[in-house]
Amino acid sequence: MLNIVLFGPPGAGKGTQSAKLIEKYHLVHLSTGDIFRANIKGETELGKLAKSYMDNGQLVPDAVTINMLQSEADKHPDAKGYIFDGFPRTHAQAQALDEFLATKNTGIFMMLALEVSEDELRIRLTERAKVSGRPDDADPIIIQKRIDVYNAETMPVKGYYQAQNKYQGVNGIGSIDSIFEALCTEINKGVFNS
Ligand code: AMP
Repeated sequence: MLNIVLFGPPGAGKGTQSAKLIEKYHLVHLSTGDIFRANIKGETELGKLAKSYMDNGQLVPDAVTINMLQSEADKHPDAKGYIFDGFPRTHAQAQALDEFLATKNTGIFMMLALEVSEDELRIRLTERAKVSGRPDDADPIIIQKRIDVYNAETMPVKGYYQAQNKYQGVNGIGSIDSIFEALCTEINKGVFNS
C-alpha cells in the first residue's frame, strides 16, 4: 500500500495538496480535522467534545483521535493507500498508527513535510478565514496557539519518521502546481527506490 503522511503546520497546504495526490495516486484521504468538523456539523457527541478543543487551538486527546482515525480507515478496506492529513500530530499517535498499520501487514511509506515559514502561515490562515468559516482561523490569538502547539507537540513527530529514514521535506512556498510536482517527484523517487 502507498501510505503517506502529509505533514506540516496549520496553513501549510496539506488539504489542498492531499486533494490532488489522492486523485493522481488513487488513495483515500483521511484528514482528522475534516472528520472532526463533519462531526461538529452533525452535532455528534464526538463533535461536541472535539469542538471544545478545536475552538481553543488545542489538540483533541490522543485516545479519541486515534480511535476515530482507525474506525475511519476501516471504512475503506479496499484502499490502495491512505494520505494521512493532520495525523499523526503527537508521538503517541505516530506509534499507534504504526501499530495499526502493522495489523494490516502494511506501514508508512513516507512522510512528506510541507515547509512554510511562520510569517507566511499567519498570512495564509488570516486569508483563509475569509472563506473557510472556521472559527479557529478567524482569531489571531488562536492561530498563534495552533502554531505554538504545532512547534511543541507535533514538530517532534518529524524525528520519529527521520529515525525510520522516511522523512522528506518539500518547500511549501510557490504555486499549488509547482508544490504538487515537487511532492510527486519525491513519491515517485521513493517508489522507484523501494
Ligand atoms: P486541521 O484541520 O488539521 O487544521 O485541524 C483542526 C483542529 O482539529 C486542530 O487544531 C485540533 O484541534 C484538531 N485536530 C485535527 N487533527 C488532530 C490530531 N491528529 N490530533 C489532535 N487534534 C487534532
